[in-house]
Amino acid sequence: MSRRKVVVITGSTSGIGLGIARMFGENGYDIGLNGFGSEDDIQSITSGLKEHSGTRVFYSDADMSKPDEIERYVHDTQEALGTIDVLINNAGVQHVSPVEDFPIDKWNLILAVNLSSAFHMTRLILPQMRNQGFGRIINIASAHGLIASPNKSAYVAAKHGLVGFTKTVALEAAESNLTCNAICPGWVETPLVKAQVEVLSRNKSLSEDEVVRSLILDRQPTRKFVQVDQVAALALFLASDQASSITGSAYPIDGGWTAH
Ligand code: NAD
Repeated sequence: MSRRKVVVITGSTSGIGLGIARMFGENGYDIGLNGFGSEDDIQSITSGLKEHSGTRVFYSDADMSKPDEIERYVHDTQEALGTIDVLINNAGVQHVSPVEDFPIDKWNLILAVNLSSAFHMTRLILPQMRNQGFGRIINIASAHGLIASPNKSAYVAAKHGLVGFTKTVALEAAESNLTCNAICPGWVETPLVKAQVEVLSRNKSLSEDEVVRSLILDRQPTRKFVQVDQVAALALFLASDQASSITGSAYPIDGGWTAH
């Protein structure tokens, strides 16, 4: 019997990462879960994943802004689940502010979580993927990895950096049956976006519905949020054998936003 594949997803206790964990679990993967949350939340996420797919789950609250905790996460996951087949660098945070007022601690945090954690996870897992002759690395970048918006200097810099990092890893690993790609979602309705809607609603004295209609979805020609499951399905495809010739790519999934 062939062994079950293992996927490790950073920032998978909420939003896109959690949706990816659920879809990979339903498709026979064991899961290295990571991210923050209350004990009750983590317990309910973990038992939900185990319940409907018989999945093995290893959870770690390793902080992706801290290289030593990332090292511990990779080591502990390998101990618990065995070798890693798919790495999904998804953890991300946001802060919105004009560049001249951008708090230095927020800049450093966004760069550490959204960009440097992908470097650390990749450098720690790549040798093992090379040894086993198979690996898939998927970086959850953003439409902001391809284009910019005002007041998001750290996020846009980190996501553009992540797309560049993706291409370099793809080139370095191409001959080892290893691919590295980025997914670039537009607006997906998750807690990360809900927080931005609340701030805009307060600052602009608009209802949250008005903010969504006039400030958020005006960027996406479809006028609809991208769904978490749609991002997860693209990740699942990129992890498959059929996607072995796709590497170094950055896939927009943004309702046409970056076609403008
Ligand atoms: P979310 O806030 O719902 O989830 C973020 C996850 O990251 C959570 O599990 C959280 O606990 C975890 N996390 C945050 N800081 C962490 C840290 N220091 N260490 C470990 N885990 C940490 O956000 P989301 O919308 O699901 O975003 C997921 C990814 O998708 C991010 O990289 C984000 O930039 C990207 N993205 C989101 C959208 C969108 O519209 N929601 C669009 C494009 C890209």
